[in-house]
Amino acid sequence: MDSNLIKNALKQVKFPGFSRDIVSFGLVREVGIDSGGNALIGIEITTGNQEVPEQIAAEVKSVVGALDGINDVKVRMEISQPQQQPAPGAPAGNGSAAKGSSAMQKVKFAVAIASGKGGVGKSTVSVNLACALQQLLEEEGRPGVGLMDSDIYGPSVPLMLGAAGRPEIANDMIVPIENFGVRIMSMGFLIDEETPVVWRGPMIMKTIQQFAQNVDWGELEILLIDLPPGTGDAQLSLVQTIPLEGAVIVTTPQPAAFNVARRGARMFDKVSVPILGVVENMSYLAGPDGARQAIFGAGGGAEIAASLECDLFGQIPLDPSIREGSDRGIPIVISDPDSAAAKEFMQVARQILKKLPKK
Ligand code: ADP
Repeated sequence: MDSNLIKNALKQVKFPGFSRDIVSFGLVREVGIDSGGNALIGIEITTGNQEVPEQIAAEVKSVVGALDGINDVKVRMEISQPQQQPAPGAPAGNGSAAKGSSAMQKVKFAVAIASGKGGVGKSTVSVNLACALQQLLEEEGRPGVGLMDSDIYGPSVPLMLGAAGRPEIANDMIVPIENFGVRIMSMGFLIDEETPVVWRGPMIMKTIQQFAQNVDWGELEILLIDLPPGTGDAQLSLVQTIPLEGAVIVTTPQPAAFNVARRGARMFDKVSVPILGVVENMSYLAGPDGARQAIFGAGGGAEIAASLECDLFGQIPLDPSIREGSDRGIPIVISDPDSAAAKEFMQVARQILKKLPKK
């Protein structure tokens, strides 16, 4: 009997009131077994409803107890109280992982865009994919796209999408700012550049919870979440807060990016969020004759995709107009749809749509 079998069995335990299980919500913190077949399961949960942990503990005991070779099951529950009451309309027994449910009820798929480190073009990829997905969904008459910029240290999405101003509040909910048909929410709308960075750290979880709970996203087919770069605790708690359908990893082609991106992937593994695919950015510079120059090396994206057993969705060229477009607030997908970069972004967006289940 090894702990992976137990972890697998725990996927049968649903969070009360939700179709997702406690493993994918990231509530399982510890799975142990001694040589006598005594299992110890550690669960961390934020809830004000005493019945929720009781129900989870009972189900954990029942599914793990049913496994061959298990003698006894102990469940260690760590319960913390939610800081805020669940928003009206939220299901009973709302836990931390499910907090976003009320404002995000009409959001069909939440997809994270992640990178192991900063500067790889994660935000650039996020804004272009948001516009590309928006166009594709609009053509099909489907609901649109939202983009949540959760990078509170360097919120660049508003600038890149030419969105400015202060969001309005209506019915106690923050109304996202819309541009190019994409509904955008960013810390950049709420704080000014002078806000000291030390104040931002503690704000990160609060912000994300607010963005999930108190933003009136309305009906969306896809909410893209531009994660802060890196794979630390902040990112982990973030991916636990919002029920994600999957993640897209952005990387650059140099082999050195490999380990960093892998660490990111491991974080999603912990919370059982599938990696949908990899986007390699700054892959090559095309010369006037069409010859491709690999400025930052080659092969990183393909290598990461192979090791994560997922698709390499695309390779975005280095193109000065991508940066200029970002600075002007018009993504290249909109400003120059015939460019190689824009076509590649559209192609990546089509693959993302294909990966999402029919709901
Ligand atoms: P991250 O979100 O990973 O920190 P950004 O998206 O902010 O990275 O990109 C960093 C810088 O690189 C920005 O100035 C952006 O315009 C530029 N950039 C990103 N991708 C490309 C590209 N394919 N070609 C040219 N410039 C790019």
